Amino acid sequence: MLENLTQRLARTMKTLRGEARLTEANTQEMLREVRMALLEADVALPVVRDFIASVKEKALGEDVVGSLTPGQALVGVVNRELTQLMGGSASELSFATQPPAIILMAGLQGAGKTTTTGKLAKYLRETLRKKVLTVSCDIYRPAAIAQLETVTQQAGADFFPSQPEQNPIDIAQAAVQWAKTHYYDVLLVDTAGRLGIDEAMMQEISALHRTLNPIETLFVVDAMQGQDAVNTAKAFNDTLPLTGVVLTKLDGDARGGAALSVRHITGKPIKFVGVGEKLTGLDVFHPDRMANRILGMGDILSLVEEAQKSIDLDAAKDMAEKFKKGQGFDLEDFKNQISQMRKMGGLGGLIDKLPAQMAGAAGQVNPADAEKQMRRTEGIINSMTPLERRKPDLIKATRKRRIAAGAGVQVQEVNRLLKQFEEMQTMMKKMQKGGMAKMMKAMGG
Ligand code: GDP
Ligand code: MG
Repeated sequence: MLENLTQRLARTMKTLRGEARLTEANTQEMLREVRMALLEADVALPVVRDFIASVKEKALGEDVVGSLTPGQALVGVVNRELTQLMGGSASELSFATQPPAIILMAGLQGAGKTTTTGKLAKYLRETLRKKVLTVSCDIYRPAAIAQLETVTQQAGADFFPSQPEQNPIDIAQAAVQWAKTHYYDVLLVDTAGRLGIDEAMMQEISALHRTLNPIETLFVVDAMQGQDAVNTAKAFNDTLPLTGVVLTKLDGDARGGAALSVRHITGKPIKFVGVGEKLTGLDVFHPDRMANRILGMGDILSLVEEAQKSIDLDAAKDMAEKFKKGQGFDLEDFKNQISQMRKMGGLGGLIDKLPAQMAGAAGQVNPADAEKQMRRTEGIINSMTPLERRKPDLIKATRKRRIAAGAGVQVQEVNRLLKQFEEMQTMMKKMQKGGMAKMMKAMGG
């Protein structure tokens, strides 16, 4: 699906070349693709609607800067908005409280609360150098308490034992007391979930929240839940003052849409993502990376960045102008063209960006050899004076020897270059009637 989207967007973008501004008309098809991509990534429909509306508002009238096509500019807006919507940058845990900093875990059964508690214990201990205590308030399943004990041991943190016959509030209070008197930096409180939203569960977790007054209340949600994550997130967010979200099971084939939905519904930052069953499977959440995952447009984005930094639009325009006016193609142009090609990622990279018929012919060249050759050619032209570049006819024996010595090559190579140039010039003259200008436009924007 990701490849498909990238291809679809690339195709759409091709039809948008050569326009200076994002308009209703030139963005419509593109936005439709983005909409489809979001739905395919499992983003909830109302969230998709809001998002598309806001992208449209931001994009319309935006100038298409530099060497970008409108399609590339729109991709830029979409990616920026998506990243922004998911919080902009990574969001950290807060410890701004008298220790112990209490972290309350909330979420449905099977969401990954106990696993994440173990992962966090490891992360807090090893990365942030905290003294960590964990406790389980899941009195409904004896195995759940044992499970927390196991992961806590694996994490190298300390475990506060509890019994199924105790009540969750008493357990919580005892654990806080213990953490205080034993100078723990952090107390992680695991709780019981239910299979679905349930009034008793909500009352229990609310009561725990009142008792503990935690600095962090993390909502743990399974990314595989996709669209259903929205309802769960809403219910928990309405009941508890959440401070953050942990999105688990992103190592599976979850498409990440839940990240956008949950963030949109709760307005709370996603702080971590679970990426595996092991305790090492926890990552700090990065909105920009998630934006790429959701849209699956890593390729396109790198293309945009590359285009932004490498193509000298003015040079390409100048050349296109020159050809339109029927002016001659000189060695300076030849050199510019070569360095332009190299900046765009060499011949290999360029072939991918050429229109199909041209790429076919160019594909018969070995890019690595061609690359070396291009660099030598550039070196030779660099050794010429501006006058020689403009009037290659001037280059006779003496000049050839000087140029060859300057570039550190044999005179034969200078000869070969001049011959090559001559052939190219002849070809250019044939192409002059529009063809070349069109090619430059396709390459430069
Ligand atoms: P809880 O009921 O919310 O405490 O959920 P658990 O922590 O017991 O996790 C439920 C299941 O999900 C277990 O089999 C975990 O191994 C698995 N799990 C939790 N987080 C992840 C994750 O990030 N990736 C994968 N692949 N599995 C996870
Ligand atoms: Mg559990």
